[in-house]
Amino acid sequence: MKVCEIFTSIQGESSYAGLPCVFVRLTGCNLRCAYCDTTYAYEEGIEMSEDEITKSADSYGINLVEITGGEPLMQKDTFLLMEKLLNSGFTVLLETNGSENIRDVDKRAIIIMDIKTPKSGMFDKMDLKNLKHLRIHDEVKFVVMDREDYEWIKEFIEDYALIDKCKILLSPAYGILSPESLSQWIIEDRLSVRLNIQLHKYIYGPDKRGV
Ligand code: SF4
Repeated sequence: MKVCEIFTSIQGESSYAGLPCVFVRLTGCNLRCAYCDTTYAYEEGIEMSEDEITKSADSYGINLVEITGGEPLMQKDTFLLMEKLLNSGFTVLLETNGSENIRDVDKRAIIIMDIKTPKSGMFDKMDLKNLKHLRIHDEVKFVVMDREDYEWIKEFIEDYALIDKCKILLSPAYGILSPESLSQWIIEDRLSVRLNIQLHKYIYGPDKRGV
């Protein structure tokens, strides 16, 4: 597999935010979102086997691991890697961009799936069939760029009855929309979603890698 980086940090997003976590960032992404902050993951990386990755993750002594990217499901061996990590006793989070089929992801893993909005420029790449594979413990994440995006997201949540399907995260695009504005909109609308701020960026700064 091609691995961009493996590191420990505080989980910055999702309902697991705040917990110590091992991150396995895999190389390659099939999308080009307007706000992408991990462009280095498009190409950079070294070859490692699933066993080497599992051993490396295990060496940190933290039992929460997130597989991220780039887009991890572009590499077919990611399915086997998740199985190995789960069999080794890890809680496994899979962060995926919503364009690749999640049907065959091990049911024990927790999927955190993006739904790209029109403003990201990538909505037409979404595989909306994925919505029927989500379980109640999974999470969907929308990155919100502005009020127009937010209004679109509210409609999407309603149209697909997402509230009943899984947890919903709304994340203000860092440096583009303030968390304060987004939190105000959520409260005004009594929207049953979780404000998702990228905690790691507030702790370590927006440009720091590997933390
Ligand atoms: S899916 Fe993630 S890694 Fe890929 S372009 Fe979008 S933000 Fe960047």
